[in-house]
Amino acid sequence: MRLVWRHRNSSDEIKDPRRTAASPTLLRGGIVVSIVERVSPEIKKDMLQVGPVKKVYDVCIVGSGAGGGTAAKVLTEGGLNVVLLEAGPRLDPDRDFKEHMWPYQLPHRGVGVGGRQRGIGDEFMAPNGFWQIPGEPYTVANGSAFQWFRSRIEGGRTNHWGRIALRFGPADFRAHSTDGMGDDWPISYEELAPYYDKVESYIGVFGSKENVPNSPDGIFMPPPKARCTETLVKKACDQLHITCIPSRLAILTKPLNGRDACHYCAQCGRGCRSASNFSSSQVMIPPAAATGRLTMIANAMAREIVLGKDGKAEAVSYVDKTTKTEQRVYAKAVVVAASACESARLLLNSKSPQFPNGIANESGVVGRYLTDSVGSDLVGHFPQLEKMPAHNHDGVGGMHLYMPWWRFGQKNEFLRGYHIEFGGGRNMPGVGEFDYVCETQEGYGAELKQKCRSVYGAFIGFSGRGEMIPNENTFCELDPEVKDKWGIPVLRFHWKWGENELKMANDMQQTFRQVIEAAGGTVLVGARRHSKPSGDVQEQSNSISTGGAIIHELGTVRMGNDPKSSALNANCQAHEVKNLFVADAAPFVSNADKNPTLTIMALAWRTSEYLLEQAKKMEI
Ligand SMILES: Cc1cc2nc3c(=O)[nH]c(=O)nc-3n(C[C@H](O)[C@H](O)[C@H](O)COP(=O)(O)OP(=O)(O)OC[C@H]3O[C@@H](n4cnc5c(N)ncnc54)[C@H](O)[C@@H]3O)c2cc1C
Ligand code: SF4
Repeated sequence: MRLVWRHRNSSDEIKDPRRTAASPTLLRGGIVVSIVERVSPEIKKDMLQVGPVKKVYDVCIVGSGAGGGTAAKVLTEGGLNVVLLEAGPRLDPDRDFKEHMWPYQLPHRGVGVGGRQRGIGDEFMAPNGFWQIPGEPYTVANGSAFQWFRSRIEGGRTNHWGRIALRFGPADFRAHSTDGMGDDWPISYEELAPYYDKVESYIGVFGSKENVPNSPDGIFMPPPKARCTETLVKKACDQLHITCIPSRLAILTKPLNGRDACHYCAQCGRGCRSASNFSSSQVMIPPAAATGRLTMIANAMAREIVLGKDGKAEAVSYVDKTTKTEQRVYAKAVVVAASACESARLLLNSKSPQFPNGIANESGVVGRYLTDSVGSDLVGHFPQLEKMPAHNHDGVGGMHLYMPWWRFGQKNEFLRGYHIEFGGGRNMPGVGEFDYVCETQEGYGAELKQKCRSVYGAFIGFSGRGEMIPNENTFCELDPEVKDKWGIPVLRFHWKWGENELKMANDMQQTFRQVIEAAGGTVLVGARRHSKPSGDVQEQSNSISTGGAIIHELGTVRMGNDPKSSALNANCQAHEVKNLFVADAAPFVSNADKNPTLTIMALAWRTSEYLLEQAKKMEI
């Protein structure tokens, strides 16, 4: 006998572990479900009435973002029965994504009263992404500054991300051997490369073969052509001998696996109903659900990994946010993929007599080695763009060109490197687009409108993304006093940039200035910028970003060969708890200049294949 749960408005079938033949009542946080019972009344009459049996899944995954979604796809397709706990609700693209909505269709043009919700948290953007979650705070230690962008919805931050999909390079895995700082990874680029191939082939990434040192090419779809603004910047880069090439984004320029090619509406940050860009919710979870072996429990906030008497993880306890009750799911293996810092938090909160400092944390490294990308921005004004005739500037929702690190192997003022992302021009104007004009232009009415029109599309913003080397002053830990509204201790962040990062940010500023001037522009100084690729408003005077602000936090449950200095082995399996795995950015040993998500997925794919092998050998 089998009970099948079907979401209204969805064809996904989801088995629910907590249902038995004797108690087929409705539940499921926040989701309306209807029950289809495939047992005839006659058979039912004759059935023995037995108490509920403890269901044990093969694997429990925590989190459905880049890492958790990949693990769900690979493990279910490999034949395992998986229960997936997700702290947010299910996602319905038709209801939740607003990429084709005009600003005037929403009150306050989507930015809330007084424009307070501008940027990546505004009402246009993909839902449930927050800098602050009501009732689920984090704290920051005195003297530190840190920002944490979290998403609470099926697919996590892959609904929001910029889709920049770069491979780490061979040198990024052995940086310590190159310059003595940080640590080497326990795996090489060559070991991960086949998994980059699998991820790129499956999700679709556009780009071009370029042979740039330490920025490996991948399996690419054709890239879109450069826009007018991008051609202008490329000419300046050519003069300055800065490499400027087609960008590499997880957006389809050709149909793939039933997903349509991008129709160039340029609004990726709002989601994509045609699933032409990558999100875990639209690309990883559906094939997992189609196997019939995925049970997804939404609005389920994992609180603790429960250790069994045999020293293995035996269950995950969670808060059902809808009923506000404590629940537990049992599994033969646990894959934690709640995002780097949430995963560290879950491990630290899983205390037992065997692991008083948190599960798999005898080394004390959980929460340590936290890093984010070094970020720095500058905007230029380009008078020649004011004279451009009206033209279609749309394309994918992101840049068509970028600058990979072009000084690899040279002697620089700092170690490691950075790449440059840029964007601007005639994007769809929204609230804040003309802040700069209003701040610098006296007057109002027709004259001000005319000035706004004349400068529309004449700005280009540059953003550097560089490697941070881990340091002992940057980490997260459990706050000894503060708990969230579910009673779960929250994280407290400590942050300090090192000298190397400050020098790198300074170098970024000099480069941006050179490019802007070589392209015939002038640097905007002291004004708020408004054409950063992400659409965020930032003070121009900050030459280095706040920790966490680039949303590439990682390293908090790192992998390594030595159990004294790492929590996980080379397969992202806990040294001390053999059926516990981590499949997000927490295992990373370094934070190369490349954005991390493609590597999260490649690593999660590799970890999941290893888990499948172990399951076949009955070694989990
Ligand atoms: C605006 C923006 C732009 C970005 N641009 C890029 C980019 O261009 N390129 C790039 O590489 N990266 C980018 N990123 C970063 C990228 O989104 C993340 O690296 C990636 O999503 C991380 O994947 P993850 O699986 O580790 O975590 P997430 O995607 O954050 O998913 C974690 C999931 O776990 C759930 N969860 C958390 N705690 C619990 C719990 N206790 N119990 C149950 N579930 C839980 C969350 O609800 C969430 O759904 C960007 C991010 C943002 C926000
Ligand atoms: S630009 Fe392309 S991928 Fe992005 S939302 Fe529009 S159609 Fe989708």
